[in-house]
Amino acid sequence: MPKPVVTRFAPSPTGFLHIGGARTALFSWLFARGNGGQFLLRIEDTDRARSTQDAIDAILDGLTWLGLDWDGDAVSQFARADRHREAVDQLLARGQAFKCFCTPDEVEALRAEAFAEGRALRSPWRDRDPGDAPAGAPFTVRFRAGDADVVVRDAVQGEVKWAAKEFDDLILLRTDGVPTYNLAVVVDDHDMGVTHIIRGDDHLTNAARQSQIYAALDWDLPVFAHIPLIHGPDGKKLSKRHGALGVEAYRDMGYLPEGLRAYLLRLGWAHGDQEYFTSDEAKEAFDLPGLNKAPARLDFDKLAHINGLAMRDADDAGLTALLMARLQAGDNQPAIDSETMRSRLLRAMPVLKTRASTLAELADQAYFLYAERPFRIEGKLAKALDDEARSRLARLAETLEALDEWTDAALGAALKEFAESEGIGFGKVGQPLRAALTGGAPAPDLSAVMAFLGKEESLSRIVEQCPPGTAA
Ligand code: GLU
Repeated sequence: MPKPVVTRFAPSPTGFLHIGGARTALFSWLFARGNGGQFLLRIEDTDRARSTQDAIDAILDGLTWLGLDWDGDAVSQFARADRHREAVDQLLARGQAFKCFCTPDEVEALRAEAFAEGRALRSPWRDRDPGDAPAGAPFTVRFRAGDADVVVRDAVQGEVKWAAKEFDDLILLRTDGVPTYNLAVVVDDHDMGVTHIIRGDDHLTNAARQSQIYAALDWDLPVFAHIPLIHGPDGKKLSKRHGALGVEAYRDMGYLPEGLRAYLLRLGWAHGDQEYFTSDEAKEAFDLPGLNKAPARLDFDKLAHINGLAMRDADDAGLTALLMARLQAGDNQPAIDSETMRSRLLRAMPVLKTRASTLAELADQAYFLYAERPFRIEGKLAKALDDEARSRLARLAETLEALDEWTDAALGAALKEFAESEGIGFGKVGQPLRAALTGGAPAPDLSAVMAFLGKEESLSRIVEQCPPGTAA
């Protein structure tokens, strides 16, 4: 029986959860969730000088916002140093590792010699008796590099081969007894039962070294899938300028977690021509063969497009709550009470969400619902509000007042009828009415606008523009 799938995300907490890390986590999460497996989180905090609690918090927050839930508690790699040392003892006992008593100067000389001969470093201590070393001399523990070529069979990169001479006798424990990176990763992945390692292809060479350690310990090798990194739109390495930002920056720009996820999924993975995947579809469809071998390019237009699709897919009440939270946290807090605002937004959301590709755009599209009044009407719209138009608005207010049914359809019919009864084209009513109802802010059709605002608010906005004493 195949082992149940276990994947992991293993960030180093030296910065935020950037977009590349988020994609790696997403792929690992999808692969686990789609296969009824587990998705584990390991914080690779062995670099004590560079690891910070702030970075750990940012990573956990980022994953949580993205909806990438992990199983169990996050594992601290640093806390497992004793277990790493235990594995080193095992390697020493098997003769797969040895104590190296070379001084730093000796190592430097050996390295120069190896370099001149076009090979990696081999320590003379691999074949010497540790008893030859001066008593109490400091030592590192090194891995005994093999003589055979190293082959990694990668689910994305295919078969990748390295000549044995490319790998030195890797340090497993430093002179202070601190375990090194590749050792810690192998021991942790083994102990956590990881079956599939999906990560950036900057770790491909590490996979070669790690494979040697797995073999030396007689441990089952996980499946490796090394994914090409994300590049900028110009094909160059991703930089801050391109959008190599933390996921919280994308959140602040107004992307939905579902949208960013759907975009990241397609950034380096394909499944036929399908462009957009809901979460369930993604879990169902995600597979390793669909991972691309070529680097992906970040494309903000595409991201906006996909996020727009996610907005359409999003639940109206949820979107309303997100938008309200965003507005209430912003600098220009809406001046109306939140219940009124909520009910207007909820009514309008099915239409508004088709007109925006981010929450920021949604806020602009929804602005007319909660804009502060009286409006300052300027430019063309102000011109359209001449005396004649204002008197006409007063007549329109009367007509609308008498309407029993306040729906988009009924209002549409009433407006048409009104224009006919006035003997004018619809534009002559439309422009001043738009000015009165929205102050010129972006908004959908006027009948829809009035339906969203409700009767009382719509009439009050119209009356505000009527000549004094004329309106109902
Ligand atoms: N800690 C490594 C990183 O953040 C990842 C190691 C791994 O996935 O094996 O790049």
